[in-house]
Amino acid sequence: MRPIKIAGGGLAGLSLGIALRREGIDVTLHEAMSYPRHRVCGEFISGVSEETLLRLGIQDLLADVARPQQVQWWSGAQNLGSFHLPTAAYAVSRHRLDAQLCDRLRELGGIVYENQRMLATPEPGTVWAAGRRAEKGEWIGLKAHVRDLELASGLEMHLGTHAYVGLAAIEDGWINVCGLFRLNANVRAKPSELLLSYVRENKLTKLAERLAAATWRENSTTAVAGFRLGKQSPLDGLATIGDAHSIIPPFTGNGMSMALEAAALAIDPLCRYARHQQDWSATVLNIRQNAHAAFHRRLKMAAAFQQLLLARWSRRPMVMLARKQWLPFRALFSLTRS
Ligand SMILES: Cc1cc2nc3c(=O)[nH]c(=O)nc-3n(C[C@H](O)[C@H](O)[C@H](O)COP(=O)(O)OP(=O)(O)OC[C@H]3O[C@@H](n4cnc5c(N)ncnc54)[C@H](O)[C@@H]3O)c2cc1C
Repeated sequence: MRPIKIAGGGLAGLSLGIALRREGIDVTLHEAMSYPRHRVCGEFISGVSEETLLRLGIQDLLADVARPQQVQWWSGAQNLGSFHLPTAAYAVSRHRLDAQLCDRLRELGGIVYENQRMLATPEPGTVWAAGRRAEKGEWIGLKAHVRDLELASGLEMHLGTHAYVGLAAIEDGWINVCGLFRLNANVRAKPSELLLSYVRENKLTKLAERLAAATWRENSTTAVAGFRLGKQSPLDGLATIGDAHSIIPPFTGNGMSMALEAAALAIDPLCRYARHQQDWSATVLNIRQNAHAAFHRRLKMAAAFQQLLLARWSRRPMVMLARKQWLPFRALFSLTRS
């Protein structure tokens, strides 16, 4: 059998490695950082099916995590109403989940090198799962864990002037606070205070007061900037999965699900390659085609909804529709997941 090399040990790379080891394929994974570590992520996994988790062989790792189902939306201080997700989400820190996935991959005989950054060199048998590409972008993502703060529902979503922020309870009493903000050169603060400064700058005053009164988890504040949402430009000769292939706007809570789905969709083509049943270019093509069929529509829908959510003109109609309980939460949910 031919071996598979994976660049990037986030959800996409680690879960793919696990699934391939279960098929008896040799896997070597190179991760630029080390485990465990805090990452910028809302840590709210919505949309992934039982079937995908079973196919990857990781369903037991999510068996005991929080399963929020109620989402409450605000525009500034205005309550827009709440929505019951058709299927409960999973809420778990990446600090815990990524480390567990890495342990699982090693237990199954996969080789994981930490603190090893790979170059995007097209090489047969190499899967690029290295996440967001460094590009000039207009966004900054910020995340921290807090406690001693009461949540109104499983997930709180707050729309600010040029931002949205989600709050969700994860393990051990911690609450994930994570936002996507339009970069603003006027916001200057120490790294540990950047999230609160962006929340204030985006006129989320009530939320800022709650956060200022909460207890913040040491070293959990992380930031990421310099990336572009949507489909990423393809890398010649490399099979890309997860954020390396496409980045869905985070308000959907679907990016991690997409990373897991992409890994599951890549299993069969990679098995055929490993078993000498097809060559590498056909394998890359299969993986690209599968990803296009699965994600093209939801990426378009999510991009359009994000524009609407963040447009100034849409705020007043949104509040009016909310008063009549006419906001199409259900449509927003299903169109960004299929
Ligand atoms: C602000 C924000 C909030 C979000 N909130 C949510 C949410 O609530 N729910 C949700 O489902 N999704 C959310 N997402 C998206 C989610 O985090 C990503 O979709 C998901 O992490 C993608 O997984 P991945 O494995 O493709 O990439 P990553 O998790 O980014 O993993 C990529 C890995 O590759 C490593 N790496 C990078 N370069 C190299 C290299 N050259 N060589 C080797 N390794 C390398 C990195 O260190 C990293 O570990 C959010 C994103 C942002 C920005």
